Amino acid sequence: MIPGPFSYHRPASVADAVKLLSSLGSEARPIAGGHSLIPMMKLRLATPEHLIDLHGIAALRGIRRDGNAIVIGAMTTQHDLLASALIGETLPILHEAANLIADPQVRYLGTVGGNVANGDPGNDMPALMITLGASYRLEGGQGTRDVPAADFYQGAYFTALEPGEILTAITVPVPPEGHGSAYEKLKRKVGDYATAAAAVVLTMAGGKVATCAIGLTNLSETPLRADDAAHAVIGTSLDAAALAKAAAAARAIMAPAADARGPVAYRKHVGGIMVMRALQRAAARAR
Ligand SMILES: Cc1cc2nc3c(=O)[nH]c(=O)nc-3n(C[C@H](O)[C@H](O)[C@H](O)COP(=O)(O)OP(=O)(O)OC[C@H]3O[C@@H](n4cnc5c(N)ncnc54)[C@H](O)[C@@H]3O)c2cc1C
Repeated sequence: MIPGPFSYHRPASVADAVKLLSSLGSEARPIAGGHSLIPMMKLRLATPEHLIDLHGIAALRGIRRDGNAIVIGAMTTQHDLLASALIGETLPILHEAANLIADPQVRYLGTVGGNVANGDPGNDMPALMITLGASYRLEGGQGTRDVPAADFYQGAYFTALEPGEILTAITVPVPPEGHGSAYEKLKRKVGDYATAAAAVVLTMAGGKVATCAIGLTNLSETPLRADDAAHAVIGTSLDAAALAKAAAAARAIMAPAADARGPVAYRKHVGGIMVMRALQRAAARAR
């Protein structure tokens, strides 16, 4: 289908974008890579009257180290992430996950900011950001605030973004040297959204799990942090009993939709398997 009519705006600064969003009101939407928004507009599930294109704001793109954190500008593309040696060295799980998002065409345009701001439970980056303890910088007419990724998601397509606010950057604390991480994503075919996916970041000491964080994608209306599952493996050597306990704890918080990717029982079943596989692979990578 053809999208509804809209006016196009291309501000050159965050201040101008925020001003436009405030003055144009609730019918104005930021557009980044357009790979989620434009399909929604074509289906007339979104009918914004004004699109505020963020591509003219150079300050929104780039990856830099700031002390013990990595700051990713909202307009940084998935392709930029994959091309970044800094990300490869400090946050290898983002490389692994970005490679599992769609296809190169989508990754050339799709942005990290758009992926995390979208609020689609199928997006991969939100659960990763929750697992890594990231926070989002939001800028609007009322000022600037930092919201932990874990507090950002309120429901499918509902987030902590207030009208008139733009997500400008994502700050990710660098995990400790020697940590292990893995993202396990089950999908029907290359380029598909997850049927179920799990992210794990852990550290090992003396053959046992010392710290662990687990996140889940597309297993509820929002990305989930599976804290009970993570606690179930701390202090263990990831033996079969500990893995089964973690999978059961993760399944207990899953509430996936029944859709073309499978019925609820199937998605919860494979969700638990993703958790076990991600734990084992992350542990094998830890030093
Ligand atoms: C064929 C196909 C397969 C895909 N498969 C996957 C997949 O497997 N996994 C996955 O994670 N994604 C997948 N995607 C989605 C893709 O990653 C999108 O690019 C991403 O979800 C949104 O990023 P974007 O930059 O395109 O945002 P846009 O589509 O431009 O925007 C998405 C939403 O976020 C808002 N927004 C964007 N940027 C900001 C900002 N800085 N501040 C505030 N609001 C903002 C927009 O207003 C809009 O509501 C797929 C897309 C396609 C077309």
